[in-house]
Amino acid sequence: MKSVVIIGGGLAGLSSAISLAHKGFQVKLFEKNAHFGGKMRRYQLGTATFDFGPNTITMPEVFERVIRETGADPKDYFAFKRLNTHTRNYFTDGTHLDMTADQTVMKQNLAAFGIPRESYDHYLRDISTLYALSKEHFFPRTFASWKDYLSPSLTKALLKVHPFTSLDTFHRKYFTNEKVVQMFNRYATYIGSSPYLSPATFSMIAYLELIQGVYYVEGGNPSIAEGFVRRAKELGVELYSNTEVVQIQVSNKKATGVELADGSQVSCDQLIMNGDLLQVYPELVAEIDRPSFSNKKRDKLEPSISAFVILAALNKRLPSLIHHQVYFSQKYHREFEDLFKKRMYSDDPTIYICNSSYTDHSASPDGDNLFILVNAPALQDYETTIDVEKYKQHIYNVLETVYDLDLAPHITHDQVISPEQIQGDYYAYKGALYGVSANSKKDAFLRPANRAKDIHNLFFVGGSTHPGGGSPMVVLSGLNVANLINKMM
Ligand SMILES: Cc1cc2nc3c(=O)[nH]c(=O)nc-3n(C[C@H](O)[C@H](O)[C@H](O)COP(=O)(O)OP(=O)(O)OC[C@H]3O[C@@H](n4cnc5c(N)ncnc54)[C@H](O)[C@@H]3O)c2cc1C
Repeated sequence: MKSVVIIGGGLAGLSSAISLAHKGFQVKLFEKNAHFGGKMRRYQLGTATFDFGPNTITMPEVFERVIRETGADPKDYFAFKRLNTHTRNYFTDGTHLDMTADQTVMKQNLAAFGIPRESYDHYLRDISTLYALSKEHFFPRTFASWKDYLSPSLTKALLKVHPFTSLDTFHRKYFTNEKVVQMFNRYATYIGSSPYLSPATFSMIAYLELIQGVYYVEGGNPSIAEGFVRRAKELGVELYSNTEVVQIQVSNKKATGVELADGSQVSCDQLIMNGDLLQVYPELVAEIDRPSFSNKKRDKLEPSISAFVILAALNKRLPSLIHHQVYFSQKYHREFEDLFKKRMYSDDPTIYICNSSYTDHSASPDGDNLFILVNAPALQDYETTIDVEKYKQHIYNVLETVYDLDLAPHITHDQVISPEQIQGDYYAYKGALYGVSANSKKDAFLRPANRAKDIHNLFFVGGSTHPGGGSPMVVLSGLNVANLINKMM
């Protein structure tokens, strides 16, 4: 029986583990943290539970596929609930616009902002084309060999997906209202990038939300990770938590095994790394064994944005809050200049709040459970100085003074999760949420490949590789790599 070792138990590593175990491989997965699921995890403050990481779930069929392909019924592991009005977008002038996959309602909502129905139809048609191209040419590809890069079908597809137009320019083709453009531009942050730099291709993210819809998982989104863990165990995957891999052993361009923190060695035929490629690969493999991915090359890559997160438990349910809401900054362009050019926290931040207890009271029986997220710059090589308490208060103040949302009297517990903590907890390079940013055209399409160029049995899965960041994409990377390994044997 061929053996596979997986470093990291995030969604991508778990997907590979399940798929390979089902295909008959002997799989051992090592996770440094006490929990599996990586960035998708639960927090508890008082009686409130919070979903950290993925709050907005799209493409439920991708998660279901992991289970279904092993002959089991996904419904026995997790259940998705589609949200009607999925996101309420507030602007500084006091207006708001609800986003929904119900096209009739969405057109009415946009009409109030002066957007004709035909413009929205046109937009939906174009993003549907972009999505279809991405689904065919990018999602299933592992970029495991040079042939993948030179494939004529890929080149043809690339030219069709507006690689040279920015998201912002693309949106202005359809929408004349600045607030509407701002609302659609926010999709760039789903890949940790700037709408003024990242290619229009990524407007296909809007397709996922506005045509397929936004979902919540019963019992909280981390139920997906828990379902994956259960299925992995049923298929015989050996899962080790609190077990850090400290070295990958390489001999003649082949990974022979890994060394664990306690000094023990585990050999394998194939090795998958789910830990962040930009941080963990250079840490675990001596530079001499990875000439194609030197530290210098890594240092040139621009990390995606990080996040400053506040978890706040309230003692009441505020009537103005729904499941997802966004409170936009006054000057969106300046916010991205702060994040990417000046590498600093914005004093005029866009604030996202997820209140899953709106849909699921049991998540927080005594009041709202607010996951408050503000975009944060990736960490610098020097220490980023931010007074966490002061910035947290600043966010509460903006919500109160600009948006009349006074949380302070109702907060029973709160806790900040900073970019530094994201880096430390998940070994995320510079605290970045999605690996390399998509701000340069090259980095947007040529993310680090799923197979190491210098070590032929080492594969990469997860948000820092293909097809991209975001929870469904990392699951696809896990499945794609499992299929590739299976095909090679
Ligand atoms: C604040 C925040 C909000 C987000 N919002 C959304 C959202 O709304 N929707 C969405 O789809 N996505 C969202 N994401 C992104 C999503 O969480 C990630 O894309 C996804 O969870 C990443 O999964 P992964 O398997 O690639 O990596 P990870 O979850 O990072 O898993 C990698 C694992 O490897 C482990 N590891 C690393 N090095 C070692 C080692 N040496 N030994 C052993 N273990 C190791 C780490 O501990 C970690 O558990 C968000 C992320 C964050 C942080």
